[in-house]
Amino acid sequence: MNHRSKEKTLVLIKPDGVQRALIGEIIRRYERTGLKLVGLKFVIPTVEMVEKHYLIDDGWLESVGKKTKASYEKKGQKAPFDDPVEGGKWVLEKLKKFLSAGPVVAMVWQGNEAVGIVRKITGGTEPLSSDVGTIRGDLTLDSYPLADTDNRAVRNLIHASGNSEEAEKEIKIWFKENEIIKYRLVQETILYDVNLDSIKE
Ligand code: UDP
Ligand code: MG
Repeated sequence: MNHRSKEKTLVLIKPDGVQRALIGEIIRRYERTGLKLVGLKFVIPTVEMVEKHYLIDDGWLESVGKKTKASYEKKGQKAPFDDPVEGGKWVLEKLKKFLSAGPVVAMVWQGNEAVGIVRKITGGTEPLSSDVGTIRGDLTLDSYPLADTDNRAVRNLIHASGNSEEAEKEIKIWFKENEIIKYRLVQETILYDVNLDSIKE
């Protein structure tokens, strides 16, 4: 089994993050946690790539539909669909248009609990209710009702893998094996070394 410090996750800065000139700010927030950047590219995704990316996880269509329904119900409103899978398909169509609209930054971050650390810093899906201090909570303002009224995807700056199995599959869509860089960072000593016997002169 891989050491825990080797967990990887995929992050995409979506077209709104690039257009809002937030690439540097977003990378800074992940970088300062101690996670290591092991893959980085700038691409305009095709519709096929976006579809493959979201359909890689069997349960995603249903889970995204359920989550959206729950968010409407919490506000005492009815979602614009009944069946969660149908809702998921509707969201996917909008995401294909959104993510292929312009360049995105694709990144792979590695480190202890990389998936969970990145999700925590990224914040919840809907910027209106994402926590303060998170990327989605601090740097943008979209909501489900606004996006749904205009029949478009929620613009929330980031995609981040939901769990490590999903991450492994997603990374393969965006990166070839030789595009994931294996290297050491000086700070890994203080983050992970057991004995710390190389600090004192
Ligand atoms: N999304 C949307 N409408 C919805 C639910 C989701 O436009 O009702 C978009 C949103 O951009 C989100 C993406 O679909 O980031 C993927 O949804 P998921 O539930 O996987 O959220 P995430 O993991 O990105 O927080
Ligand atoms: Mg997701």
